Amino acid sequence: MSFSSLGLSESLLQAVAAQQYPHPYPVQQEAIPAILKGRDILGIAQTGSGKTASFVLPILQQFQGKAVSKSRRVKTLVLVPTRELAVQVSEVFKSFGSQLPRKVKTLAVYGGVSINPQMMQLQGTEVLVATPGRLLDLISSKAVHLSEVETLVLDEADKMLNLGFEEEMNKIFALLPSQRQNILFSATLSNKIEDIRENLLRDPVMIEIKAEEGLTPDLISQVAYAVSPEQKGPFLRYLIKSENMQQVLVFVSSTRTADNVVGKLVKNGIPAAAMHSKKSQGARTEALSKFKSGKTPVLVATDLASRGIDIQFLPYVINYDLPRSPKDYVHRIGRTGRAGASGKAISLITPEDQHHFKIIQKKMGKQVELITPADIDLKGY
Ligand code: AMP
Repeated sequence: MSFSSLGLSESLLQAVAAQQYPHPYPVQQEAIPAILKGRDILGIAQTGSGKTASFVLPILQQFQGKAVSKSRRVKTLVLVPTRELAVQVSEVFKSFGSQLPRKVKTLAVYGGVSINPQMMQLQGTEVLVATPGRLLDLISSKAVHLSEVETLVLDEADKMLNLGFEEEMNKIFALLPSQRQNILFSATLSNKIEDIRENLLRDPVMIEIKAEEGLTPDLISQVAYAVSPEQKGPFLRYLIKSENMQQVLVFVSSTRTADNVVGKLVKNGIPAAAMHSKKSQGARTEALSKFKSGKTPVLVATDLASRGIDIQFLPYVINYDLPRSPKDYVHRIGRTGRAGASGKAISLITPEDQHHFKIIQKKMGKQVELITPADIDLKGY
């Protein structure tokens, strides 16, 4: 199937071509035509499935031909759980939007940074991507109004609920006009999500993408190395240097490990930064942008902080620590090998991890070669 069969206009198709997406992902095949028809959507899809473009493209198309708004009354509201996701979703709107004749002013607003610049930029914003708390602050300062919202998107709704945003979300829903299109994406279906579906969605088109369908596992080569806990650090540095890795995302299980790993990498002459919940928003944004631009080749992150890191063509992912859940494993490795580029996922497996790693492979339905690096001299790493 090609993008041209989904009902997108010529200029949107050109914007897609500029991103070099060869063909639509399953979630896009289903969501794009339905959203263009004005239908509500309930999408069960994970990060990596291509869900962002599946709502960004039809929403941008709906703006084409409409008068440009100069007010503070946003037309599309996208609610997201985290600052990182807010920035990333708005970037997808901006990068597709930049190719279109009719510009759509898009803004990301989130807490943890000064509110004033956001207030000023809201004038003329048509697509607002927001975390719930900051949005309510902006509403009470009258910096933004929701009375003209035509499309509501809830992205990663399950995560918003898990982070305790239910009350804020309900307050926001109460301020929306009753006539509108609703698009809900969640990685999982729970009773709470069912409640939102009942209360918010009108006869939604149901789209369900299994985790594996969204990924491109064939493009990801996976290997694992059997190491002792003491060898992990030197072996990581050995891998980065010997494979000359220019961009690698390293997953660890705790904030402390993240800081330790970064400290040792830097001491050994490998520029690296940590991304975890104890870092300030400013530090996280800076770490991410330096990683994206290639200035810092190594980013060491915990699972939570890494959600929403959306980088195309990430060549390497290393599991310094294995995640607890097989789902997180699939999620992590799905960050490489995207958009048709091949990628490599490497896991460091201690004797204690071996049993758990077997379970992960079983759940994933794929065997990963476990290499014992016998003859490698780790002295000096
Ligand atoms: P998402 O699930 O929205 O976070 O998107 C996952 C990644 O897939 C992003 O890096 C997108 O740029 C990329 N992507 C989305 N749609 C396509 C497509 N049709 N072809 C190739 N890459 C895509």
